[in-house]
Amino acid sequence: MANAELSPTTSTSLISLLQASNINFLACDFDLTLIDIHTSGNWLGTIPDLCTHVRPNFTKLIGDALRTPGMHVAIVTFSPQTAVVRDVCREVWGDLSDKIVIRGGDRTWSYEGGGSQDRKQSHMASAVEELLSIDPTATVTRATTLLLDDDADNIKVALREGVRAVWINPREPDKMEEHLRELLGTGT
Ligand SMILES: [Mg+2]
Repeated sequence: MANAELSPTTSTSLISLLQASNINFLACDFDLTLIDIHTSGNWLGTIPDLCTHVRPNFTKLIGDALRTPGMHVAIVTFSPQTAVVRDVCREVWGDLSDKIVIRGGDRTWSYEGGGSQDRKQSHMASAVEELLSIDPTATVTRATTLLLDDDADNIKVALREGVRAVWINPREPDKMEEHLRELLGTGT
């Protein structure tokens, strides 16, 4: 299900809200979160076709986050098709997408730190390691991370580990903003 694009004002105010809540790292799932279908890690179509499934409110939110100094973005997915994810990001956000760290099930990385390896935790922790290697002055921790994901198990584990998280209901993707505002404690 596609959804409406966030208005420029809405997205900018969401970024302000994230900053006010001390969140500087958006970790976003791919299948059924950033896009409105599940590829099952086996997308055989074209990149432009897949891009038609990118949810407009995520296009706006992540684009604004990428343009915001000090705000970091990762795509965290169990899909092994990270090259496809990278191509989609490039198509949607152009050169800005170079700032996106991607962690998927492609066996190109491992997380050796002491934190939880459960569900998306190692993906996020490994992404943070890369972000910190690019910008050692950045301060990104579990407490400054927000996970957006349609998988309730990923959300549960994130919350257990001290990561703030918003469950994206694939049937009601337009509620992303409302849920974000609820989580961050500010009404509309
Ligand atoms: Mg998903």
